[in-house]
Amino acid sequence: MNWQGWGDPAKARELPEPIVKLLHDLLGVRPPVAPVAMEQVRLAEPVLPALDELRAITRVSTDREARVRHTRGKSTPDLMRMLAGDGSDAPDAVVSPGSHDEVLAVLRVCAAERIAVVPFGGGTSVVGGLAPAREGFAGVIALDLARLDRLVSVDADSMVAVFEPGIRAPEAERLLGEHGLTLGHFPQSFEYATLGGFAAARSSGQASAGYGRFDDMVVGLTVATPGGTLELGRAPKSAAGPDLRQLVLGSEGAFGVITSLRLRVRRAPAVQEYEGWRFPAFQDGASAMRSLAQRGLLPAVLRLSDETETMIGLAKPESIGGGGEGGCLAIAGFEGSSGTPADRARWDAARAVLAEHGGACLGEEPGQAWAHGRFSAPYLRDSLLAAGATVETLETATFWSNLPRLYDAVRLALLGALGNPLVMCHISHVYETGASLYFTVVTSADLETWEAAKRQVNAAIVSADGTISHHHGVGRDHREAYAEEIGPLGVEILRAVKERLDPAGILNPGVLIP
Ligand SMILES: Cc1cc2nc3c(=O)[nH]c(=O)nc-3n(C[C@H](O)[C@H](O)[C@H](O)COP(=O)(O)OP(=O)(O)OC[C@H]3O[C@@H](n4cnc5c(N)ncnc54)[C@H](O)[C@@H]3O)c2cc1C
Repeated sequence: MNWQGWGDPAKARELPEPIVKLLHDLLGVRPPVAPVAMEQVRLAEPVLPALDELRAITRVSTDREARVRHTRGKSTPDLMRMLAGDGSDAPDAVVSPGSHDEVLAVLRVCAAERIAVVPFGGGTSVVGGLAPAREGFAGVIALDLARLDRLVSVDADSMVAVFEPGIRAPEAERLLGEHGLTLGHFPQSFEYATLGGFAAARSSGQASAGYGRFDDMVVGLTVATPGGTLELGRAPKSAAGPDLRQLVLGSEGAFGVITSLRLRVRRAPAVQEYEGWRFPAFQDGASAMRSLAQRGLLPAVLRLSDETETMIGLAKPESIGGGGEGGCLAIAGFEGSSGTPADRARWDAARAVLAEHGGACLGEEPGQAWAHGRFSAPYLRDSLLAAGATVETLETATFWSNLPRLYDAVRLALLGALGNPLVMCHISHVYETGASLYFTVVTSADLETWEAAKRQVNAAIVSADGTISHHHGVGRDHREAYAEEIGPLGVEILRAVKERLDPAGILNPGVLIP
């Protein structure tokens, strides 16, 4: 993986010259300074007590490249810092356990020596979930879970599969595919993110309308904590008290290390039909999505771009700039076991709802183009960064009745803070009661200006009654807004849980809990 950007370096592309010129003329984007080489990244000398003790338990690396590759995540500020050679958040060592017991043993040593531990899955966090506070700790390790990468078992009667946490999503899908099964979880970070990371950050994928969010898929969890092991989830549903799985989902490594996940799986679809629809305006498309959700007719994939995103053509990143026919583009993806008459009748009913709200079917071409480019947007971000633009995404969610207010609030905050940014938005996760809003911002702002703008947007989201995150999580970047969202008593509950599971406070300090 590109340590200063996204993904496979072979897939990186330069922006065409006319687009670079447009960025300059419209947004004032200027060429950036050249990125530093790996040897030039500024790293502090590693300080780590108990190195020998850790080495006696499992694999430990202190080499430069391993440390650099485990520094922070993949938000745009993370990438900008890495492009500039800022390795100040690098761990002192990368520790790679091969079993649950090794994780427990590492946690015991780290608790005794006050070494901060950052669980590291795919490293794709975009909310500062991998940059712990160092103050008060004798050192920091990244606990890389990549060696815990097995599909442990498949129970086809119950339609559940048990995985280790460090398996990456494509490999998990490949192994399930051998059984004719799928998770149906395809976030844009699919290529690199891990199942443990999805659970720890409550991820949601592009087919969430059909398959649910990742936290919907988690039936059971094993968690290693400094306080011992938690085994959670012994039945599909239970009335045995509060559901402690919910304490772990979204805990972002602050309560424990997920070492095993039991997940609900589905039959892999035999038929996938993705098609484009055009709506006169964003509100029309949003009403159509609401109707589909409330009438129980959701396709597997449902996504609606606003007017600006449609104009730029972001739903089809491989043909960017090609969407200039006005209105708002929606993608509807129908998936079924074999496209049976019952499936087809449902899909036609869904199409009728889209048409009822003013949608015009554009056929399969836009749907296929979206499906083809569905994992390309992160590469486009690299191309834009290389051209000197700052491009970042942010997301929130609310109830349907509040969606227009939240949409306006976020846009206004961005426009107010950044002057003349390009602000695009889409809806891609919908429920009976509401939906998420996902914004992409392109600007010439430098890192400091962007971070100030982001704080203003966070405040705008809170005051417009949105949640601070629908699926990226809290990390460090959303910690204060999250505290406002759950209130002082909520924060005290989190602290009490942390105190019991992690009395030395070594797990991902500074992340999630203020
Ligand atoms: C280009 C791009 C596109 C993205 N698209 C989406 C998207 O469509 N949908 C979406 O939901 N998210 C998306 N994300 C965000 C990110 O991919 C998700 O948050 C994902 O869940 C992180 O998985 P990971 O394995 O990379 O975890 P990491 O980034 O390695 O970790 C995330 C957090 O979880 C903790 N953690 C990781 N593994 C464990 C474990 N086993 N036990 C305990 N804690 C653990 C870490 O300490 C960290 O706080 C995107 C990110 C990028 C960079």
